[in-house]
Amino acid sequence: MTDRSPTPRRVVIVGGSLAGLHAAEELRAAGYDGSLTLVSAERRAPYDRPPLSKQVLTGEWPLDRAALRSSEELAALQAEVHLGVHATALDVSRGIVTTDAGLDLPYDGLILATGCTARSLRGETARPGLHTLRTDEDSRALRQTLLGGGHLVVAGAGFIGMEVAAAARALGADVTVVEPWPVPMQAALGDRIGTALADLHRAHGVKFRLGQTISRVLGAARVGGVELSDGTVLDADAVLVGIGATPATDWLAGSGLDANDGVACDAYLAAGPPGVYAAGDLARWDNPLFGTRMRVEHWSNATEQGAAAARNLLAAPEDRKPFASVPYFWSDQYDTSIQFAGRPGRERVPVVDLDGPQPEFLVLTGESGTLTGVLSVNSPKAFLRLRRMINNKASLADAADAARALRFR
Ligand SMILES: Cc1cc2nc3c(=O)[nH]c(=O)nc-3n(C[C@H](O)[C@H](O)[C@H](O)COP(=O)(O)OP(=O)(O)OC[C@H]3O[C@@H](n4cnc5c(N)ncnc54)[C@H](O)[C@@H]3O)c2cc1C
Repeated sequence: MTDRSPTPRRVVIVGGSLAGLHAAEELRAAGYDGSLTLVSAERRAPYDRPPLSKQVLTGEWPLDRAALRSSEELAALQAEVHLGVHATALDVSRGIVTTDAGLDLPYDGLILATGCTARSLRGETARPGLHTLRTDEDSRALRQTLLGGGHLVVAGAGFIGMEVAAAARALGADVTVVEPWPVPMQAALGDRIGTALADLHRAHGVKFRLGQTISRVLGAARVGGVELSDGTVLDADAVLVGIGATPATDWLAGSGLDANDGVACDAYLAAGPPGVYAAGDLARWDNPLFGTRMRVEHWSNATEQGAAAARNLLAAPEDRKPFASVPYFWSDQYDTSIQFAGRPGRERVPVVDLDGPQPEFLVLTGESGTLTGVLSVNSPKAFLRLRRMINNKASLADAADAARALRFR
């Protein structure tokens, strides 16, 4: 192991997206004036991913509007930025990141922020019409396909799949969602909300094949259809595979880091070797708030963790702070806004279930009578208040009382 000076002078950040950018900004904001190098596999300067399945896909926004910072703001970071460069190996004993551009980058502080890559359908080769969605190029390619009209089959009724279904309907495509669970988004939202959201999609013309998987994509030169697990064949002009994402840890093989399902970190986001931290979709850390190790693929987690990892990297050991946070995400489908904070628990208390012009729900979820999560569909104000009760480990009963009072005020 190299000795690490108490304050690093050569910081390398691998992964130049949300978490990496926030780490870089926090380092400078905290007064770090040493060398700063940012390595990003993508050719485009940091941009936001949520619009890729929403406004950018529908064409409401040009891609440039998804840029996270202007070129002036990036220049102000005074960082050496390597775009289109992959880190290929990490040697923690010598403190060196190796890249595919022939650069060896020595560091005495390192932040790992390589996020995730979209999962593909096993055994299927890439061909026109077969899409995943993670990058600007993915979104552009999918939009081009959808503008051609025809039938889109979405594999997986997760958030990205359902957002793409909504965007594709807005573009006039026929859409069928294929999902192994009997209810879309059941694992994340539970039966009632999952069913209500499926009904919302049906009302917009989306069809579902539930309890099914895609066993084969048909068409050699380009996608022509799919065969489902029950043997049914559906004609299709395109397939969007929305079956989750995998942490981008291949390049860490041989580094000695525990990189099984993301990079394992302690509560301070430290990955083990001196001066090495991880943040964002990649980090699997001990969240003291829930007393468990978790990995979270949400926007706000990536921004907050990037900054927290940077602060802990600069801090003296006794001044470091554990990263204790309530995970939060949102999803927009048609005019419906879904928000979730915390962790799903085994107990669920539906608080409001109104049949208005738009569905409105609040569901509290918990373990052993303690609130662990709040789900809101079109109830943003009440959600904001209830979210804070998770930090305070409020009881489910108190949270339910508060939710009813907030809702009916
Ligand atoms: C289409 C889409 C829609 C989303 N919508 C929402 C939403 O509505 N709400 C929400 O909360 N979250 C949403 N998310 C999730 C959110 O965007 C992610 O949580 C966030 O992008 C994570 O940021 P990150 O920096 O940790 O990782 P990433 O954004 O994955 O960035 C990692 C970066 O590292 C680069 N990289 C990977 N390997 C290497 C390597 N070896 N060398 C150099 N660079 C490398 C990658 O190319 C990438 O640029 C969405 C994600 C997607 C894809």
